[in-house]
Amino acid sequence: MKKYDLIIVGMGPSGVFCAYELIQKNKHKNILLIEQGKSIEKRNCPIEKVGKCLKCKPFCNITCGFSGAGAFSDGKVNSYHMATGVKDNLYMGGNDGPSFRAALSTDEIKALFAYTDDIYVKFGGNKELTGLEYADEIKKMQDKAKKENLDLIYFPIRHLGTEKAHLLYAKLQKYLEENHVNMIFDTIVSDLIIENGEVVGVKTLSSFDGKNEKTYYSSNVCLAVGRKGADWLAKMCKKYNIENNSGAVDIGVRYELSDEVMKEVNKYFYEAKFVGYPSPYCDKVRAFCQNPSGFVATEVYDNALTLVNGHSYFDKKSTNTNLAILVSHKFNHPFDKPIQYGINVADNLNQLGAGNIIVQRLGDIYRGKRTWSYELENNKVVPTLKSAVAGDITFALGYRTMTDILQFIRSVDKVVEGFANPENLLYAPEIKFYSNEIVLDKTFQTSIKNLYAIGDGAGQTTGLIMSSAAGVQLARFLSEKF
Ligand SMILES: Cc1cc2nc3c(=O)[nH]c(=O)nc-3n(C[C@H](O)[C@H](O)[C@H](O)COP(=O)(O)OP(=O)(O)OC[C@H]3O[C@@H](n4cnc5c(N)ncnc54)[C@H](O)[C@@H]3O)c2cc1C
Repeated sequence: MKKYDLIIVGMGPSGVFCAYELIQKNKHKNILLIEQGKSIEKRNCPIEKVGKCLKCKPFCNITCGFSGAGAFSDGKVNSYHMATGVKDNLYMGGNDGPSFRAALSTDEIKALFAYTDDIYVKFGGNKELTGLEYADEIKKMQDKAKKENLDLIYFPIRHLGTEKAHLLYAKLQKYLEENHVNMIFDTIVSDLIIENGEVVGVKTLSSFDGKNEKTYYSSNVCLAVGRKGADWLAKMCKKYNIENNSGAVDIGVRYELSDEVMKEVNKYFYEAKFVGYPSPYCDKVRAFCQNPSGFVATEVYDNALTLVNGHSYFDKKSTNTNLAILVSHKFNHPFDKPIQYGINVADNLNQLGAGNIIVQRLGDIYRGKRTWSYELENNKVVPTLKSAVAGDITFALGYRTMTDILQFIRSVDKVVEGFANPENLLYAPEIKFYSNEIVLDKTFQTSIKNLYAIGDGAGQTTGLIMSSAAGVQLARFLSEKF
């Protein structure tokens, strides 16, 4: 029976960077990575050619395969360790990086993020950081936001662009191959093998037909399954009593408006993280994943659940900026299933859009009417997601979510004139499923011995730099153990 030193489930940035860092520590370790999607050179999204999402089978190429959701991401590598407008000049994503905070000091986290950022540069990441030369303008805008009860967080960004992100990850895949890391694609990890409270391996099935069960053994297994695998991970938690907390689910819209309105924000910040707690609910509402001159995109999850996202290319440009506006919702008693709540909301919206993303003008929401496709033809903000269907998102987004979003838009409008322009577009559903927060010890180990969890799927990170850094940090813990 062949035994690996480490099995990593999922080849998103967290899993890939874990393997990379282990190579730096000791070249001769026997590492196996298993991924349900395809290798990087086989990943391609047909939407650009055919103009609509074909719901690729067995898995969406945007979210699955080597480098996970990173391959088709906008490739904004955020220097969270150089943030301003936030305590200690360290931003830690939407959920404040609980596993990092528990394991490392503020300075150690900053050093880890800087080290991880350097790896991106080493593999071809853009050397330039956005915004450094606009410190005064940024401060002025942050002060203006404060008056509207908004935090405006700035951090420099290394923007790769979708096509460069793809090339960068291709180089990383080659690097892992050359360093003899074992990689299996088109293979789902269907189950864990746990004996006497300890993980000893995993079971797999073919991604194509769900058959051909195989078993792989290792006394160290790392779950790096991303948002895509969050649902599966929740099932594993239930089956094996892996301790976890049901956290928040972030529900909202992708907001699209003209570059002209966002000109200064795009120039100074590239991505401006506005955070507010609008009345009357005081829920956390945040703007993030801003894509200047970008494109709104779809991402497809299990059972054809279709969500909206956004990205921008390095060379190809639109005249619109898009960004996410998300509301964090928590549940406790008697209902504590945030993932299910998010799925229900998305499902209703998908049904209203006949399987497509719905788009509505802000002004139509204020007027209490749906948007019609002919109205979009002459709209000042022309939708960049051509497959989106004009309709009414308020049929399915709850009153509380909608109120939070509209209040937030009004507040940001006082800082960025035109942010509440009636011709701006809201696409739905945009949902972040990082709600199942796995309880980890200081070495990212779950309540099952030798079973580790990192990245977005474990509810620990949000975004490329944090998920990649989690992989690096786990490798450091493991290299002391091996
Ligand atoms: C369109 C888009 C744009 C984005 N833009 C940015 C950006 O500009 N900047 C930024 O910081 N972040 C961005 N993100 C988010 C970023 O991509 C993620 O935060 C990051 O990829 C998370 O890394 P991860 O390793 O935790 O998970 P993922 O990247 O999601 O990878 C998890 C992998 O695990 C695999 N997997 C899951 N379950 C199983 C299983 N049971 N068996 C085998 N394999 C499994 C999945 O197929 C997937 O490949 C974007 C995301 C999307 C979708």
